Amino acid sequence: MIVHFKGTRGSLPIAHTSQDSTEKIVGALLEARGHNLRSESQVREFVKDHLPFHKGSTFGGNTPCVHVDTGSEEWLIFDAGSGIRPLGQEIIKKSPSGSDFHIFFSHFHYDHIQGLPFFTPAYIPGNRIFIHGGHDNIEEFLRDQMRTPFFPIDFDTFQAEFIFHKHSHGETVNVCNAEIKVHKQNHPGDSYGFRVQQGNKSVIYSTDAEHPNIAHGKKYDYLDFIMGSNLLIFDAPYSHSESITTREHWGHSSYVMGVELAARGEVEKLAIFHHDPNLSDKELCDFHGHTKKFLERSRLAVREAKPGIPGAPSPRCHPYEIIMSYDGLSIEV
Ligand SMILES: [Zn+2]
Ligand SMILES: [Zn+2]
Repeated sequence: MIVHFKGTRGSLPIAHTSQDSTEKIVGALLEARGHNLRSESQVREFVKDHLPFHKGSTFGGNTPCVHVDTGSEEWLIFDAGSGIRPLGQEIIKKSPSGSDFHIFFSHFHYDHIQGLPFFTPAYIPGNRIFIHGGHDNIEEFLRDQMRTPFFPIDFDTFQAEFIFHKHSHGETVNVCNAEIKVHKQNHPGDSYGFRVQQGNKSVIYSTDAEHPNIAHGKKYDYLDFIMGSNLLIFDAPYSHSESITTREHWGHSSYVMGVELAARGEVEKLAIFHHDPNLSDKELCDFHGHTKKFLERSRLAVREAKPGIPGAPSPRCHPYEIIMSYDGLSIEV
């Protein structure tokens, strides 16, 4: 499977300002001093291999949308934040019409649905769009955001055929040559996570979920849901202190909780997702650094806890890698 991140920002799309672009260019030119950059390939190599990510690139500003390519001719998509707009533009170049889409919605907060009215394949006759989710009234929610006076055209302007499916916690859905397991999560108004299983490969799409204190307990059924997955896409916009003070009960989790659950759930790769719209590219790079440092420190603590003593934590080898997701990132699992 190939996982394509099209929107990774939480809550609200953001755009970079003119000053942000200028700062990146100035920063890159300063870093370039003393390097041999005569040819374009030398310049590209320098940007790719030498520049810090926040100077040579960006995390982007689109709200959640992830496309999982399972090798099927059907399109498997999670959430329709503003990231689904550029995905739609790519799709119509490859498949102008006659395609089937399966869009799974974690929930219906605005940042997860606002891109749907800008998803070009929805306006093309011959396409079929299967909408999946765990909530009641899915069709009504999607129609509501396009009602007057919130949007200039209504839902019936779509020319594709829409088919709605409601699923329950624990259900497995077979689409796109994959099995998709549905898991209810703790979030205002509830949210649902999805485990995509294809053969022995698995990807978890788990956004907008707050894992409370009981997550630290021995029995926490989310661990069964994520156990042994190759990639866990995890909503972690907060530091640990934010998650237990000012942002408690906001429905999201910290990077500490992400690392903790990925370690205990024996996850290979943890992808931090649903980034805080207030954080700059530099601040998100720092956030990534803190997350990796926490994993290193917790490994050290576990090593020093003398394995073999009853009650001591087991050696922590998972996750093998922590990724800070960004718009445009693709990962093969
Ligand atoms: Zn959200
Ligand atoms: Zn939400």
